[in-house]
Amino acid sequence: MISLSDEEGSPGEQHSDLVKMARRIIRGMFGEPGEKIFNYLLENGYIAEERIANTLDIRSNEARKMLQKLSDEAIVVPNRLKDEETGDLLHTWKLNRAALKSFVLNRLRKARERLEILLKYEEQGALYICKSCSRRFLVDEAYAYSFQCPYDNDVLVEANNPAVIEKLREAIRRLDKVISMVERM
Ligand SMILES: [Zn+2]
Repeated sequence: MISLSDEEGSPGEQHSDLVKMARRIIRGMFGEPGEKIFNYLLENGYIAEERIANTLDIRSNEARKMLQKLSDEAIVVPNRLKDEETGDLLHTWKLNRAALKSFVLNRLRKARERLEILLKYEEQGALYICKSCSRRFLVDEAYAYSFQCPYDNDVLVEANNPAVIEKLREAIRRLDKVISMVERM
């Protein structure tokens, strides 16, 4: 058996909203392998490098790459453990529960920033849209291109941007609520 010297986190925590949000974001960023590793870490607290092949039903290479990515996000941190039966020193990746909140908050804030950029763009005035490629142009750009798409020469038509602006504002309001909820967790 392996002893965890600095075990932390209770099983009840696994179902907290924060964990659910982190899981959803990890699935979005890293796909199913990332989610599998995250779930394994939630249950076991760590993954030993030496045992990746018989621990996870993911190819070792893929699992290592994924653990590196999770490490870049500070979700896992390197650690060492002594296997009490064999005396071997194992190189492990330990779940860093303390980092989950800032991981989730960072992602939500980035999503909010992207929406803000889109909103600012839309608010600059009437937009023209290409019916073929859906690229969008500000009025002076559209004028400069003689209302013809520079990519495919299709005609540029005025886009209905008040509706888009309202949608973006609503999405930002929703995100703000989620962000302040997570901040209070
Ligand atoms: Zn076009």
